[in-house]
Amino acid sequence: MHEYGIISNLIRITLDRLAKESVSKVLLVEIEFGEFLFINPENARMAFDSLVSGTILEGSELRLQFVPGKIHCTSCGYEGGVPLPKDKHLHYSNHLLICPKCNAIPQVVQGLECAVTQIEIESIVA
Ligand SMILES: [Zn+2]
Repeated sequence: MHEYGIISNLIRITLDRLAKESVSKVLLVEIEFGEFLFINPENARMAFDSLVSGTILEGSELRLQFVPGKIHCTSCGYEGGVPLPKDKHLHYSNHLLICPKCNAIPQVVQGLECAVTQIEIESIVA
């Protein structure tokens, strides 16, 4: 499942950021995903739980936010969402986005977001 690779990158970035601060405990990590990344929330949670094991992030709450996908079609002018198959095993790599009006390959306006948007920590009290 591709969630492992993506989450693993985000966790590395988060740990780098936290390394510069005096953190005793991480309470919450919020991650924002675009719809077109086809992140399965259950897989994301499983990946997170296993990847943070043994790090300062262990035991923190994972909050997932999803950004709706939006395309712009340069051939017919359509702008908006795309009906996506609700297949849990769908892989980003073998899915092609097409314009629902004319089947052209559209530009992605929104929906490829992938970032840690919030971290709540408990600081070490000196
Ligand atoms: Zn179109």
